[in-house]
Amino acid sequence: MPADTAHMENPTKSDGERSLERLFALQKKAHRDAPYPSYEERISNLDRLIRLTEANEEKFVNAISEDFGNRARHETIIAEIVVTVSGVKHAKKHLKKWMRPRKVSTPLHMLPAKSRIEPQPLGVIGIISPWNYPLQLALAPAAAALAAGNRVLIKPSELTPHLSEALFNAVTAEFDESVCAVVTGGVETGQAFTETPFDHLLFTGSTPVGVRVAQAAAKNLTPVTLELGGKSPAIVDKSADIAAAAKSIAHGKMMNAGQTCVAPDYVLTPGDRRDEVVSAIAEAARNLFPEIDTTQDYTSIVSDRHFSRLQSLVEDAKDKGADVVEVGSSNALNPQRKLPLTMVIDPPMDSAVMQEEIFGPILPIISISNETEALDFINDRDRPLALYWYGDDDTARDRVLQKTVSGGVTVNDTLWHVAQENLPFGGVGKSGIGAYHGTAGFETFSHMKPIFYQSRFANSSVMYPPYTEKTDKV
Ligand code: NAD
Repeated sequence: MPADTAHMENPTKSDGERSLERLFALQKKAHRDAPYPSYEERISNLDRLIRLTEANEEKFVNAISEDFGNRARHETIIAEIVVTVSGVKHAKKHLKKWMRPRKVSTPLHMLPAKSRIEPQPLGVIGIISPWNYPLQLALAPAAAALAAGNRVLIKPSELTPHLSEALFNAVTAEFDESVCAVVTGGVETGQAFTETPFDHLLFTGSTPVGVRVAQAAAKNLTPVTLELGGKSPAIVDKSADIAAAAKSIAHGKMMNAGQTCVAPDYVLTPGDRRDEVVSAIAEAARNLFPEIDTTQDYTSIVSDRHFSRLQSLVEDAKDKGADVVEVGSSNALNPQRKLPLTMVIDPPMDSAVMQEEIFGPILPIISISNETEALDFINDRDRPLALYWYGDDDTARDRVLQKTVSGGVTVNDTLWHVAQENLPFGGVGKSGIGAYHGTAGFETFSHMKPIFYQSRFANSSVMYPPYTEKTDKV
């Protein structure tokens, strides 16, 4: 059945689902007709991404701010525009090398044959992106997929409708839809995405939805990269410079108002330094955002639903007896849904704030008596997406890094490992499957095809029947 008439069979399908069917069929055919875009074509696609990001900078800044209520302009410029463009430039710079076959050695008894691993475009890649960094998390994987010679369909989050529309317009203006296109729609379009037999699906979002995505994709054996969330710890070692650690933790937690997958979720601190840590984080937070009521620098919580969820996390911890330190006022903030940094001191482990990913500016501060207790605390829980360690004692640092498994690590700061394109970015265990950024992204979206080039001088007769005499000689 031609894709354009598919909807006539099922009038209940949404516009998003119909658009997905049509574009998938179109891109699949385009891939069959031209399965190996040249280096020049790929560079031209990467240039298109840079152009559309830079040319629409103001539209993207405003659209994201409208979606959030307020999104700090600087955060959008840095985390959406600069990070995306520098990722694409990195891909451009390394593309020639990435596309080259990888030589591997051939064992002596197989010589003079040759062996190579040759990267090949997979075909059509689906990308499902979340609302928290809605531009970067749509375009960064798209860049990797296009660099690898694929066609790309992006489904942005329904929670950022203004950005989704701006992205749709920008991509449509710059790309032929057989190369890269945006499909807007709600959860039903997301579900239809996961049921589409893409050659690879990259999903960025929450762990519970990630499970559903993996289940749906498994029906087609569609390979998935799952970029998920979780509770990322920040460990303040007894050797740490508390003021420096506090400033970094406050910034990592307050950027985008804590709505960052790699934000420190909670802090583990030596019990005898807990109060010093709390005061230092409060002071740092006040210095970073002195007037959260009025400043445009502090980002809003994305929706009323998320705002009440975060408020109820604090109420639940209070009800269960935890002390709470709120940094800054929350008077009259609610129209813009600005939530101050709220530290929850030694909450009980059954409180909701310790049971789920927080994804907002609420920061549990947990006292521990020694390193073993910190390690047990982390290892008793799901493997986190990120881990932050602050201190000066390299031996203690190495012990912690060897005894914990996390998606990535930044030592003596937060967030930075994600911005380093030479490092793969991804989770482990419940925080994700697979990785992208830099070389990892190119290889994720390529079939790394092993090829054995037999020599015409080879003597393969040992492999052929009759076997009996040959087996005797082996
Ligand atoms: P979400 O899981 O609710 O939604 C993500 C995307 O999936 C959206 O586009 C949504 O429309 C779509 N979706 C929802 N239900 C679906 C379904 N059943 N099938 C298919 N698609 C569906 O996540 P969110 O609230 O948008 O984002 C926040 C979460 O994302 C947090 O857990 C955060 O840690 C995580 N996150 C991870 C990374 C990372 O790189 N690891 C980055 C950003 C956010």
